[in-house]
Amino acid sequence: MDNWKTIISFTYPHEAHMAKGYLESEGIETLIQDEMTVQVNNFYSNAIGGVKILIRDKDYEEALKILKKGGYIIEQNKEEGLKIETYNIKSESEKYKCPYCGSENIERAKRPNFLAVIGVLIINTFFPFYQRYYHCFDCKKEWIFKIKKV
Ligand SMILES: [Zn+2]
Repeated sequence: MDNWKTIISFTYPHEAHMAKGYLESEGIETLIQDEMTVQVNNFYSNAIGGVKILIRDKDYEEALKILKKGGYIIEQNKEEGLKIETYNIKSESEKYKCPYCGSENIERAKRPNFLAVIGVLIINTFFPFYQRYYHCFDCKKEWIFKIKKV
C-alpha cells in the first residue's frame, strides 16, 4: 500500500478543495483530511492543523512543484514562519524596544494559546487564554520577554 502524507493544510475546507482540484487537474491523486471536524466548528481548524491535503509519497516532489507554480506554497514563508523567540531581560524597563534591531516601533500582541484550544476540544469549555508576545514593525521579529534576575 502506498503511504499518504500531508503536503499542505488550509484553514477552510473551500480553500483545500480549490487546491485539490488544482492538483488533480495536474494528475495528482489527493485525499482531504479533517474536513468534517473543521466544518463543525471553524474555530477548531488551527488546533488540529487545518484541513489537510494528503498525497501519495511518490507524488510528493511533483505535487510540491505544482503547488509552488500555482502560488499555494510561497517558499519564503517557510523561513520566516511565525517563530516566537524568548528574550531574557533584567527588568521591566527594557520592554520598550526591540531587542534585535533596537527599534521602539513595537507592539504588544496576543494570539489564542494553543493549549486553550485543546481545552475546548476536550472538555468543550472556552478558556480565553492568550499567548502574549511582542512584534517589531521594523525587523518583523516576534518574541516574548522573560525577566531573568541575575
Ligand atoms: Zn526590530
